[in-house]
Amino acid sequence: MLKKKIVIIGAGVGGLTSACRLAKDGYNVEVYEKLSRCGGRCNIIEDRGYKFDTGPSFVLMPDFFEEVFSYCGKRIEDYLDLRAIDPSYKIFYSDGETLCVYRDSQRTKEELKRIDKGASEQFDKFIQETARIYNIIRPLLYKCVTYKSLTNPYYWRLVTKIRAFESYWQLARKYFKSDKLCYAFTFEAMFMGVSPYQAPAFYSIISYTDHVQKIFHPMGGMYQIPLALEKLAGQLGAKIYYDSEIENIGRKDGQISLLKGKNQIQASSAIVNADYAYAQTELLKRKIPDFKYSCSTYLIYLGINKKLNNLAHHNLFFAKDLKKNLDELFKSKLNPEDPSFYVHVPTITDPSLAPAGKDILYLLIPVPNLENTRQALKDHELRLRRIIFDKINKVCACNLEELIEVEHRFYPEDFIGRYNIKFGATFGLAHNLTQSAFFRPANFDPVMKNLYYVGASTQPGGGLPVVIAGSRIVADLINAAG
Ligand SMILES: Cc1cc2nc3c(=O)[nH]c(=O)nc-3n(C[C@H](O)[C@H](O)[C@H](O)COP(=O)(O)OP(=O)(O)OC[C@H]3O[C@@H](n4cnc5c(N)ncnc54)[C@H](O)[C@@H]3O)c2cc1C
Repeated sequence: MLKKKIVIIGAGVGGLTSACRLAKDGYNVEVYEKLSRCGGRCNIIEDRGYKFDTGPSFVLMPDFFEEVFSYCGKRIEDYLDLRAIDPSYKIFYSDGETLCVYRDSQRTKEELKRIDKGASEQFDKFIQETARIYNIIRPLLYKCVTYKSLTNPYYWRLVTKIRAFESYWQLARKYFKSDKLCYAFTFEAMFMGVSPYQAPAFYSIISYTDHVQKIFHPMGGMYQIPLALEKLAGQLGAKIYYDSEIENIGRKDGQISLLKGKNQIQASSAIVNADYAYAQTELLKRKIPDFKYSCSTYLIYLGINKKLNNLAHHNLFFAKDLKKNLDELFKSKLNPEDPSFYVHVPTITDPSLAPAGKDILYLLIPVPNLENTRQALKDHELRLRRIIFDKINKVCACNLEELIEVEHRFYPEDFIGRYNIKFGATFGLAHNLTQSAFFRPANFDPVMKNLYYVGASTQPGGGLPVVIAGSRIVADLINAAG
């Protein structure tokens, strides 16, 4: 029997994992990717011996990664060498205090006690509560829920159980008196592009996973993840076409029809992995609701000619007034006066990513997205760079500017130009209450039959493990449709 054809628009992690599952399920899968290589936001720049992972750097919830390989009848160990890192991360407060989070929570507790004597017991209680929420949410990450699901009392009971009407910050505040610790247990919201004051408390499952399940690094760099998925998809028979931008989605002769240049590509079903908001306006020519978008990011990738001291693999530098920093980003949409930022030094775990004796520094600065921009980043770039470099110089006793051998930068506009991400919102649609679960775009199109969605701006949400769970939802929906 002729296998049904499924086309996927985009070879991001959502597109690749969907391709693997559906090829395994026996479909004839074709992936069309605008760029000349796979990975989408999980990408790489290689320059003079340095390998800069340009997007994600934390591997959390490794069981979600394992699940896609086992679904396809393979062992993840044959594709990826994931190692738990230690310390997990280090926080630098503006007054010079630091907080190191270790794999061993006893060591982490010693650190917490330095900041607040009672915090060690509170940490246990916070983890217990976030574990409870995690256990409720985990199976839901493999389900697509809609407004209709709200008529089911089961879901209503869950809404209170997962503390949907509290913010991430309010939850942390119940356990930690010190502002410093509240930020240490909610900063993860910023890495979904939303403020901890706006993110619902159930996103605290990220704190649970990074403290309890730990943080992993794939040896060879994060880009090994899309490469492994590309290999798996190929082994299962999926075909990936690069430099192939789709321009329109329509229907013809009872099938989905995609336009690529002068060619029409027809298939029984299509999956959009490209950014949801972009696809609605540009590929389907639809009007979209007044969505809220995540913040954007300004990224600087440095190859430096020596190894630095005092930094960990993952480092967070918090602004002096974090509340003001968050308000600037998410309310007034201004470039931060005193930025919080993240520094990734993967060469600490994985020296193969740079020439011998040298380091990679990847700097991520959350900045407003480009919707109704009030200020150009370019006018603030040098000021932000000086503040950030000064802080790193102080911690590492170095002069960063003099050590740079290779430098690349990525601006909010680049998220649009390169990946077609609406408003350059790095993490896609914001993860606030009104855009989570039932309220986040579903994984199927309500109007066009046999059109599906996978990726950060659809259910269940953004971040690699969650996007991977989304591909399971899409495969289940397609299999159920027959
Ligand atoms: C700087 C940064 C840091 C991050 N940090 C982390 C982290 O530490 N841990 C974590 O888990 N997650 C992190 N994330 C989030 C994570 O990277 C994303 O949630 C995930 O990669 C999104 O995958 P996706 O499947 O939605 O697709 P995308 O990565 O958006 O891929 C979609 C693909 O579609 C292609 N495309 C677009 N339009 C078309 C078209 N018309 N035709 C053909 N192809 C098209 C694009 O080129 C792209 O390759 C980070 C993201 C960024 C950017």
